[in-house]
Amino acid sequence: MTRPKLERKVLIMMTFSAQTRVALSDPEAIIAPVCEHMLEHGGVSRIEDGARILEFSGARARFSPTDDGTLVDVEADSLESLYFVRVAVASHILEFAEPAAPTIVWRGDGGELARPPNFQILRVANVQDITPHMRRISFRGDNVARFAGMNALHLNVLCQHPGLAAPQWPTVGGNGLAQWEDPARRPSFRKYTVRSLDVAAGRLDIDFVLHTDAGPGSALAETTQIGAEIGVVGPGGGGLVDADWYLFAGDETALPAIARMLECLPAQARGKAFIEVADKSEAQQLKFPAGIEVTWLYRNGAAAGTTSLLIDAVRSSILPDDGSSVYIWAGCEFAAFRQIRSHCRGELGLKKEQHLVVSYWNRGNSSE
Ligand SMILES: Cc1cc2nc3c(=O)[nH]c(=O)nc-3n(C[C@H](O)[C@H](O)[C@H](O)COP(=O)(O)OP(=O)(O)OC[C@H]3O[C@@H](n4cnc5c(N)ncnc54)[C@H](O)[C@@H]3O)c2cc1C
Repeated sequence: MTRPKLERKVLIMMTFSAQTRVALSDPEAIIAPVCEHMLEHGGVSRIEDGARILEFSGARARFSPTDDGTLVDVEADSLESLYFVRVAVASHILEFAEPAAPTIVWRGDGGELARPPNFQILRVANVQDITPHMRRISFRGDNVARFAGMNALHLNVLCQHPGLAAPQWPTVGGNGLAQWEDPARRPSFRKYTVRSLDVAAGRLDIDFVLHTDAGPGSALAETTQIGAEIGVVGPGGGGLVDADWYLFAGDETALPAIARMLECLPAQARGKAFIEVADKSEAQQLKFPAGIEVTWLYRNGAAAGTTSLLIDAVRSSILPDDGSSVYIWAGCEFAAFRQIRSHCRGELGLKKEQHLVVSYWNRGNSSE
């Protein structure tokens, strides 16, 4: 009974649309898993008149079987949402159709997008070592406001291929996906945190760990010069959740995120933060409410990603039992991430919305 009202509301909102017809050898064997997979990204799925429909906040995709292939109609409330729903549909069809590579060509809105809407070029304005192994790079950009707010903490930095004389920037292909002039030498993407932001001044700071086994991210921080153009894509990734009591745990790669979150906590927030760094020289002055206790954990000679300092600290923390709401946030090397996440879900029995534990890097493996 209520569906017609919902449909009317959705139709009014969806002002942009695009279509593609895709030839698939066994459409149902590909489209059904695509839709199922997209539910994990927050979509809602239903079947209507033989067509599969996926709805997201602000966008919708309809997959209709026809004699000439699967007709995919996408609609969205903004050009940016249309871009993302086209990317999601195209990339997942290509992934689930492998090894076949069906042709996808979108018609309709979105053809005017020269570059992915979440891509922008920043210019290096300052480079400063804030500790021996943490380099703060300040960037200027016209659209840094995209990174305002605690749900817009992270971005991907495009680390250019060393063999290129000039940087390569992405364009939008006919299939809706980012495309590169020289795909074999496309940039490497590395995830970083917006440590601080001044929207009025158009300034954004990122703190890069300079690590010995330098991959493209660390190498970019070591070599970049004032005036250099750096491409970024974002924002992405979850942020801070309201709670009475917090437990933060992270190594130096998560220090920028923890520092930013601590600064944004309300004055009455209580809890603990454990931050693992190489030694005392890597500790920083941080701002945090009086009810938060910050403890620095020093590896003192042990290699990054080899100690149990963070998991021991999390395990020894006693959560309040006075009815306070609790939130645990952790970012660290893969092995510690697995132990902390299993502790949160197992021994502590935390619900999904009560914790976010993320692997920030993987010892011995590049994040390529
Ligand atoms: C959401 C998110 C936000 C992040 N924010 C930041 C941030 O603000 N600042 C930051 O510095 N990092 C941050 N990281 C971590 C960063 O993305 C990784 O450290 C990444 O591997 C660095 O890329 P790279 O090219 O230097 O090294 P890669 O090419 O990925 O790896 C090369 C080698 O270096 C090793 N390695 C990678 N990182 C480290 C390290 N920290 N110490 C020692 N060895 C390492 C790898 O194990 C590998 O052997 C973040 C990660 C995520 C997921």
